[in-house]
Amino acid sequence: MFQKAPQLNLSGKAGGSLARYYEEFYEFWLGGNRIKTETAATSLDDSGKTEHPYGQENPAQRYRFRYCQSARAQYVRVLHRAEEDLSRRNKGLQCGTQQVVYQNLTTSEIRLAGNYCEARTCPACYHSRQRQQAIQLDEWIRLYTRNDARFVTLTMASSDEPLAMQLTELQQSFKRLRRHVLWKKGVKYGKGIIEITYNQDRRQWHPHLHIIAVGSYIPQGKLSNAWATASGGSPVCDIRKIKQGDKIANYLSKYLGKPPSIDSIDDSEALGMEYYLALRNRRMLISFAGAPALPPLPKSEDPPEEGDQWTAVGNLNDLLKDRETGSLEAETLLSLLSDRINGNDPPPD
Ligand SMILES: [Zn+2]
Repeated sequence: MFQKAPQLNLSGKAGGSLARYYEEFYEFWLGGNRIKTETAATSLDDSGKTEHPYGQENPAQRYRFRYCQSARAQYVRVLHRAEEDLSRRNKGLQCGTQQVVYQNLTTSEIRLAGNYCEARTCPACYHSRQRQQAIQLDEWIRLYTRNDARFVTLTMASSDEPLAMQLTELQQSFKRLRRHVLWKKGVKYGKGIIEITYNQDRRQWHPHLHIIAVGSYIPQGKLSNAWATASGGSPVCDIRKIKQGDKIANYLSKYLGKPPSIDSIDDSEALGMEYYLALRNRRMLISFAGAPALPPLPKSEDPPEEGDQWTAVGNLNDLLKDRETGSLEAETLLSLLSDRINGNDPPPD
């Protein structure tokens, strides 16, 4: 049904041979030329109806992915083609097949729990991950920074290199910066988050690193020089003090796993695959210099525990079917569900 992915190691850890792997990757998927997107688009669109599996998913899944249908269809194709690990692939394919609607006996509040894949590349699951991480980071900032945190953004020079290579270079450059005397003196510890954007006009990936650095004042000019040395030429960096009340965690968590907007680009599927493979097994949230760990949080999508005020009121697949046949009760429950913004209902982007 799906063309099988070539057996390539695209994790970015293969050192010098990675460029060769990438050549093979583009040769295989894009007819040898990344820029020739016309041929790329047709070569990727040759397996007919199965290319758009959204319609084949069960009602609960269609409900889960209702705001991101095309991204979900693309994600399913990427899973089929690129994910060799069957259990990981199936987890992604089955994300949301079984969902239970719970209601709070005291507040009448409604929530869903189900077999979500929780992958940061999943177009539905990344929303709840982001919300969780925003809460965690916010708490971390409250606990472990006082009046001594700075927000640093480090950018790499523009490059045509594949995403995995750029990410590896960014991570290695940041490691080198941390060994620089200026950084060692100025920064006690911190957290870093990688953001990835894609420039459609230049057809280039742009990873940046956003950092919460706890420590003392570092002049921007000196940091810029140190970063240019560490990154092999990019002087682009920004440093500013974090003030109380800054919504820095919200801002940062937006980048965690948010896929770049590539949906509408004609070679979006190859880019989606590249993105998926580059992020697989890679840390996007970096702790450094013995930074205290993030506080643990219960997952918002875990089924409610026994004994609390939540009770299961139905299976989402059944409720959706009942609504089709005119059940008022199903209609009411489902409207309550869509009224609330929660970890399970990705807001429309
Ligand atoms: Zn998912």
